[in-house]
Amino acid sequence: MNVSELNIKVSKTENSRIHPLTKDNLVFGKEYADHMLVCDYKDGEWGTPEILPYGNFSMSPATSFMHYGQAIFEGIKAYRQPDGSISIFRPVDNWKRMNVSAHRMGMPDIPEEIFMEGMRQLIELDAAWVPGEAETSLYIRPFMIAMDEFIGVRSSETYRFAIITSPAGAYYNKPVRIYVQDKYVRAAKGGIGFTKAAGNYGASMLPAAEVKKMGYDQNLWTDAVENKYVQEIGTMNVFFIVDGVALTPDLNSGTILAGVTRDSIITLLKENGITVEERPISMDELEAAHKAGKLQEAFGSGTAASMSFIANLTYKGEQLDLPEVSEWKISPKIKAQLDDIRYGRVDDKYDWRFKI
Ligand SMILES: *Cc1c(COP(=O)(O)O)cnc(C)c1O
Repeated sequence: MNVSELNIKVSKTENSRIHPLTKDNLVFGKEYADHMLVCDYKDGEWGTPEILPYGNFSMSPATSFMHYGQAIFEGIKAYRQPDGSISIFRPVDNWKRMNVSAHRMGMPDIPEEIFMEGMRQLIELDAAWVPGEAETSLYIRPFMIAMDEFIGVRSSETYRFAIITSPAGAYYNKPVRIYVQDKYVRAAKGGIGFTKAAGNYGASMLPAAEVKKMGYDQNLWTDAVENKYVQEIGTMNVFFIVDGVALTPDLNSGTILAGVTRDSIITLLKENGITVEERPISMDELEAAHKAGKLQEAFGSGTAASMSFIANLTYKGEQLDLPEVSEWKISPKIKAQLDDIRYGRVDDKYDWRFKI
């Protein structure tokens, strides 16, 4: 199937809910644009994608994903450009990753045309929902769920792919306090850590709530075998600047989500002449670096917050404080460069912007 053959059925709403989207009235994830895209899979093939007014799904209480968790998603952002046009940041990479998740979860591949052209037409139709103020965006949430009305345990034969969107304000956060988690694990070798599966999130809710109660903002997950090697913070990838070198866990173990932001940051770090090492990083190494005064900067990376700077890490009762962000030489600069590309303020030399 190529784009010209893709037929998308469009039913526009007669009751648009659009209103002025200002920083003050944008609450992330609470409000959805007028339309959604829905495409159903049955008899081994995808049907005609439909764009229709945003609204409830009606389904049986026996619907398979509710019981056995064949549910995956993606997170992407569209940004208003200086000339008023709209660009989506690296969505093809999200399409590829969604199919990596689909494969591991025994779900069907989503054709590129349905994902990309469906998203393009949806954003074009709901263009008014892409806010324009500084640091705002339209969050795009593609997802797929298993739809069989059957509670026997087996892979579903029917699926629904859908895309909803939500206008997002600026994601302010002050540097975060991190708890190095050595009781719960997020992912083990051979598991589904590298997928954006709903179940990964479900399993993270209790540990997240527990560390919040203790006064921390997020977990830093460690490996499932030795609880020693760092993995991700919350639902973000993690980077450390040690003695001018950028360190981030490698993806070889299959326990880490291959973030599009992570990849973009690695590219920009290298462009800035900074050495990037993707390899196992132990807490012992970070502690030693901290003791030697070489743990200079640390941050989480992901589409929602872009970069989230770390104030301190608490490991086995010891708090490792990082220098004040105002002293950081590398991460704030990379964040500014990344934002400039997203918001169309500089040339798109890596071809990361997908124009609507
Ligand atoms: C989505 C996600 C990330 C960040 O990925 P991006 O593509 O940069 O948004 C990192 N870790 C986990 C566990 C995630 O689910």
